[in-house]
Formats: sequence, C-alpha cells, structure tokens
Amino acid sequence: MKTAIATNVIDSDLTAIGIMDFDGLQKTVAAAYDAFPKNFFHTFAVKANALVEVLRVLREYGMGAEVASPGELLIAKNAGFLNQDIIFDSPAKTLHDLRTCIKNDISINIDNLQELTRVEQLMQEHPNTKSVIGFRINPQIGGGAISSTSTATATSKFGYPLADANNRQELINIYRQRPWLTSLHTHSGSQGCALELMAKGIEVITELAEEINNNIGSQQVVRIDIGGGLPVNFASEDVTPSFADYAQILKKNVPLLFTNKYQVKTEFGRAIAAKNGVIITRVEYTKNSGGRHIATTHAGAQIFTRTAFLPKSWPIRVTGFSAEGIEKTADTCEVVTTDVAGPCCFAGDLICVGKQLPKLVPNDYVMAHDTGGYYFSNHFDYNSLPRVGVFSVSGDDENLNFSCIRKADSFEDVANKM
Ligand SMILES: *Cc1c(COP(=O)(O)O)cnc(C)c1O
Repeated sequence: MKTAIATNVIDSDLTAIGIMDFDGLQKTVAAAYDAFPKNFFHTFAVKANALVEVLRVLREYGMGAEVASPGELLIAKNAGFLNQDIIFDSPAKTLHDLRTCIKNDISINIDNLQELTRVEQLMQEHPNTKSVIGFRINPQIGGGAISSTSTATATSKFGYPLADANNRQELINIYRQRPWLTSLHTHSGSQGCALELMAKGIEVITELAEEINNNIGSQQVVRIDIGGGLPVNFASEDVTPSFADYAQILKKNVPLLFTNKYQVKTEFGRAIAAKNGVIITRVEYTKNSGGRHIATTHAGAQIFTRTAFLPKSWPIRVTGFSAEGIEKTADTCEVVTTDVAGPCCFAGDLICVGKQLPKLVPNDYVMAHDTGGYYFSNHFDYNSLPRVGVFSVSGDDENLNFSCIRKADSFEDVANKM
C-alpha cells in the first residue's frame, strides 16, 4: 500500500484502482494443477476477469479460456489463447457465433435441442472441424445458498434437463446418431454451493458418459467438462476450500475422473481470480448521520455491483489505511461503527455497513479484499469510469513492481471528447 502511494500508482487523479497480484495468480494456477492429475486441463472463465493482460499471464501459466460471448472470445484471442484451448459456452449462441466456433476449431457446449439443429447444419458445412462438441447437462440436483448463482436446480435456465420426462434416453439416442458429439459438460456450482453438491452433479454426468459409451459400444465421449464454481472464502485470508479439498471430494465421489479414461476440463473463475486482486479507493469525506460514521469513497455500485445490490450474499472485507499508506489498527485509532459508501446517487451504494473499523478520515484509503474476480474487471470501460485504473503487482514486499494494465482517461480528457 505504501509502495502503491510512493510510486504514484494511487495519485490525485486516480480515486479507485484495482490491483492484480500476478505472483499470486501463478501460485493459484499451480495449486490447481498440483491438486488434480495430468488428464485435467484447467480453463479460466473469462467473465471473472476479462482483462487481456490478466488473461495473457493465465495462459502463460498453463490455462485455457472459457468464454460466453463474442466479446469474450475476441478478448481471449487478443490474449493469445489457441482456438483449441478455448471453450464457447453461452445459452444464447447465434448461428453466427456457432459458425465462428466450428469453422475455427473452438469447442462448444450445446445448451438445448434447438441449438443442436443449428450445429448439425453447420457440421455439414464443416465436417472436418476439430471443435470438441457436446451438450451442457443440467443434472437437476438442486441449488445452493445463492439462487442467482445456482445453476443446477430443476428449473435452471442452463443446459439440457437430464431428469425431465424421457430426456436421458433421448440424449443417448442423439449421441448414438451423431459420432461428432464427443463431450459432456456441466457447471453445477458457483458461490454458495457445497462441494458435495458440485461433486454430485459431476457424478451424474460421468455416469451418463459411461452409459452413452456402453450403449454405443465404443468410447465416443472422450471429454468431461466439469465447469467451475469452486466457492471462495470472502471472510478471511484463508483459501478454503482449496483445490486440493475439492479434488479429494471429487476423487471420493467420482474416482473414474482420476484415471486416464477421460480428458477432464475445468472452468474455474472466482477461485482463480478473487483472492489475487484488491480494490483501493480514497476516502473523500466522512460524516456522522444519525449516530453512524459514514466514509464516502469513490468505489461503489459501479464497481462493487453485486455487493451493493445483494449485500447479504456478497459481503466484502475492508481494511483502512492512512494517507501515507499505513494500516489503521485498533492500537493506533479509535474504533467506530462505520458504513463505507460509494459515489453513486442511491442509498444502497455501500461497500459495507455497520463494520467496526478504525475511524476513517478524509484522504485515508480503503482496501477491499478478494475483489480480483467479478468486480473491477467486469464492466471496466475507459470512458464511463473516469479516474479508475487497473494495475498488476509482482515481486516481494521489499521490492514491489507495479505495472499499469489500464488507466482511465482523466476527467479533462473525457471532457475534451464530449
Ligand atoms: C461463470 C461460469 C464459470 C465460472 O464460475 P466460477 O464460479 O467463477 O468458478 C464456469 N463455467 C460456466 C459455464 C460459467 O457460466
């Protein structure tokens, strides 16, 4: 923090910055590879952090890319991912999206039978494609604690509902008639889901793969894509659950994945990015209203969108720093019940509410932890977020190197363009 201030990473123009820890990212990717055997290939869910510079290093650390829109695909290409290392997932692929993928050997997960009809037509145009194609399955095993990130309920909008009516048998027939269907995908998780629940969904599609292959009499399904969804601990620095915890539960429930029979793909997003990023914002003013201490900063709903709108599901840990970059603690400061607010003009624009924090004063800084995924990277836009910058950091405590990923135009630059 001190270094960030001393090296002018935070200056008077930048009132909120995101910082990605590239060393931490490298360790996190290594932990994922260490936890699972060699037949696993880890892709990164681009929506969790769609910055080209971040994606480029994730590629260098050995990951592929999972994308869900043409924009994300373009970003992944700019970050240098090979087509064969990209998976296109989206419940709303246009004919053009599908053609782009099939023509360019990009893997796809089919969401529904109408999409299958389109893919079938395109397979006639491009019979020699190397795209790995299969269905996204909804194992319909139930949801977790956060309904908006639960993807495997009976009525989820995602995937082919396996347990409805005669769907299972129909799917087996569909695979039997189409030798180019060689994979199965599920993403039965995300924040709020227990590991056992995720493992259950993966067990369901692994059994399905076996049933399809047995029915056909050869191993047509060669790839199982188990999605992402490993939850992140936002309450402390501890990485729980770890990739190793998840691997252990998965191995117990679905040992077949830990043999060499299938190529297994993962699509982790939050578990890779969240704990390797922070947002730092300056306290502009403080006030006392109705007995509560309020610190007004420059990072609110425009960056902490989930937290501002669903504070109970997405609480964030914050730490206060002095203007010189020194952490404020109970030893050095009076502790008061504090709300940290953002700059947007609605009352719910709060980073945290009723927190016991060393008293913040103007020109202090607030660090929001574990925000490297789905926060500053989500909707970063050059011109609509003036005075926000994104940096990477690497090196040890004594010698930190910051490098600018993106720095928004200054207010004057934006004004000049208007
Ligand atoms: C969002 C998403 C992911 C990543 O989810 P995390 O909870 O960030 O790991 C993976 N796969 C698909 C299909 C997704 O939509």
